[in-house]
Amino acid sequence: MPKPYNYGPHHKTLTRRMAKYLCFFVSGIIIIGFLTSVAVYSVNLMRKYTEQSIRHSSEMLVHEYGLVSKYLYEETCSELKQFSKNRQFAGLKTHAQRVEWFNSHLNQKPDFFCNIGYATLTGDAIAANNVIIDVSDRPYFTEIVSGNKIETIHGPYICRATGETVIVVSQGVYDLGGTLQGVMFCSVKLSTLAMLTEKLDIKNDGRFFIIGDDGKFICHYDQRYLGQTYVPSSEKYKAFNSQYFFEARRGVFETISSEDRIIQVYLEAIEKTPFTCGITVDTARVFATFNQFRTLIISVVFITVMLICLLTYISTLFLNMTTLREGYYDQLTNLWTRPKFEKEAQNMLDRNKGARFVLMEMDFRGFKFLNQSFGSEEANKVLVEYSKAILTYCKKMGALCGRGYADHFYLISKIDSVNTFLEDLDDVVQEFEDAISPLELPAHPKYGITFVLPERTFYNDNKTIQDLIGEASYAKGTIKENILQVYAIYSSLMAETIEREQRIERHMEKALDRGEFYVMYQPKISLTDDKIQGAEALVRWNSSNPKLGELSPGDFVPVFERNGFIVQLDFEVYEMVFKFLREQINLGNPVVPISVNMSRNHSNPDKFVREFVRRFNKYDLPPNLIEIEILERASEGDAYNLIRVTEKLHQYGFSVAMDDFGSGQSSLNMLNEVPIDVLKFDQNFLRRENTKTGHQKMITTLIELGKQLNKKTLFEGVETEEQRDMLKELNCDQVQGYFYSKPLYEKDFVEFVKQHR
Ligand code: C2E
Ligand code: MG
Ligand code: MG
Repeated sequence: MPKPYNYGPHHKTLTRRMAKYLCFFVSGIIIIGFLTSVAVYSVNLMRKYTEQSIRHSSEMLVHEYGLVSKYLYEETCSELKQFSKNRQFAGLKTHAQRVEWFNSHLNQKPDFFCNIGYATLTGDAIAANNVIIDVSDRPYFTEIVSGNKIETIHGPYICRATGETVIVVSQGVYDLGGTLQGVMFCSVKLSTLAMLTEKLDIKNDGRFFIIGDDGKFICHYDQRYLGQTYVPSSEKYKAFNSQYFFEARRGVFETISSEDRIIQVYLEAIEKTPFTCGITVDTARVFATFNQFRTLIISVVFITVMLICLLTYISTLFLNMTTLREGYYDQLTNLWTRPKFEKEAQNMLDRNKGARFVLMEMDFRGFKFLNQSFGSEEANKVLVEYSKAILTYCKKMGALCGRGYADHFYLISKIDSVNTFLEDLDDVVQEFEDAISPLELPAHPKYGITFVLPERTFYNDNKTIQDLIGEASYAKGTIKENILQVYAIYSSLMAETIEREQRIERHMEKALDRGEFYVMYQPKISLTDDKIQGAEALVRWNSSNPKLGELSPGDFVPVFERNGFIVQLDFEVYEMVFKFLREQINLGNPVVPISVNMSRNHSNPDKFVREFVRRFNKYDLPPNLIEIEILERASEGDAYNLIRVTEKLHQYGFSVAMDDFGSGQSSLNMLNEVPIDVLKFDQNFLRRENTKTGHQKMITTLIELGKQLNKKTLFEGVETEEQRDMLKELNCDQVQGYFYSKPLYEKDFVEFVKQHR
């Protein structure tokens, strides 16, 4: 059961809404994309700039440290020099004097000296506490003695006198003649050095160190490394150890710290010394803020993208729902649309296998006319009221309904039996009609009905909902203009018709090749002298297919009109007629003008006439032997085509007749405009009963009209003597009908002409 859905007015179309969403998303994405790019670009720029500035300041810093260290060294040297000079150490001659000097002056040594010593040229040294040590292997001794240097620094060492870890500054002691006498040296404890360097202002998280002999640290921010070397634990950085840095002396290197953090090491050689100083910079720590910022940006972008996705998803869901709703429900009536109806109806059929059903297709007689004459608003009211009535019925019966194109409605309902359904049908139809009657509009629904009846194979051939709709539609199509016929039920006969039409279509082309079409001739008789005036060529089909057999135009012409084959067939018929006339002339038989039928399918007058004349010219016939019967058309453009074709045919000398005049939507105006020669009145004028009074008047008027317009008048379908007499009395020019002759085979027609000339 479809749930009525209240839409309210639909101001915005789906397309407009979709376009809005699309614009929204595209602009959103562009803005977010732009902002993200700007943010990422600036972060990268800042990072690059910071990197450069860190590098620059670190290089400056390590350079400064190098200078300070050099200064410390120079200070130490000058302190040592000053110490010995002030106390005239250089003037002492003997070893005993020097020992004596040490004993008396040692307590006057500068505070930061750990020890002071003096070594003879053999390497025997006196130091504080009168300890005699051998320093002959120490580089601070050898470098002086070898004459390479006059002062130097080395270390770290375990002091042989005090056991402390120290660095040693040494100077040569020369006599007045400049000859080296011995080596004066002092030691500074690494801890004292650390105290001195601690005062240095360490910036940028950089940490200061000095590497001495053999890659051992004489100064290090981590006390544990004093006097020790450092080799990174990671295989990758193993080469970048303290020994390597000691030797490298200058540059920037990457390695890892004892805490396994990647660090950058900036090195600078301490001038005048073999030592190297340096600082370490923990890049990760420096960039931690940037990394945090980057993470923030990534998170923001991520969250934004997620939000967009979510928003898109929700909108798509919403759009889908709208699309579905708009696709499922008809906006005017709120009934289901045809696709939705088909789906639900098919489900209903599938779920209730073995049950009986009725399916109806409804539409209105001349709805187009209603629309045009009363406006679509009024016509829509009819649809809305009608749909309400259907829905009410469906709710009551548990049936389903939907609206298709324009005024088409569908209904499917389970039924107990065909009989009970038919018993109620009139009431139901009346109910529906009552719903629209207050509108007082000429709206008359008609119904095509088909059943699903499991007990009857014909009605239950595993048909789909589309098959059923096709059947109901076909049945509805059989309803004639008679206003009293409201519904038609699909029958096996209709099924046969469909099948037969399909068979006709399958065989038509071959039939033409095989010459299965032939022409019969129906004489036209003059009412003044009962003589033959002409004949109409009427096509027949003698099909070689036993299921088709002998067919008259009523069976196949409508099918050919629908599929367009009639165009081809018409020309074939014309040629059969031309050929027949040619043969008769050649045989010396009398001939009369023959009229041929032109179907409505010939839409291009010029093309038609060109082809007609081309074929006609092959037979060398006088054109007055040929008349063309044209049919009325509905629209104005068609009227133009009729005028054009008639005029062109006249140019070639052919006569033109208006066939079945009065059967369709004739307009007298058209009659005036189209310069036809003959008016052939529709046989229905004679078919109608009570030909007596009113009707006879109409026939009189028609004939008079023809005469006034200077047309030859012809009545077809004259079957009785009374009809003939009446027409004769009314001065009708010619008649065609069974009263004189049915359509005749060629041979018989030739005889007829001979006898009725
Ligand atoms: P139409 O052109 O109006 O032809 C007259 C029809 O009325 C013919 O039917 C004829 O047999 C029938 N008829 C003549 N006198 C009487 C009578 O006294 N009583 C009754 N009940 N009927 C009579 P037919 O031959 O079955 O043709 C039917 C229609 O098929 C034609 O109507 C014409 O529209 C069409 N048709 C026939 N041959 C051709 C053709 O070669 N080309 C085209 N396009 N249409 C054709
Ligand atoms: Mg005709
Ligand atoms: Mg006719």
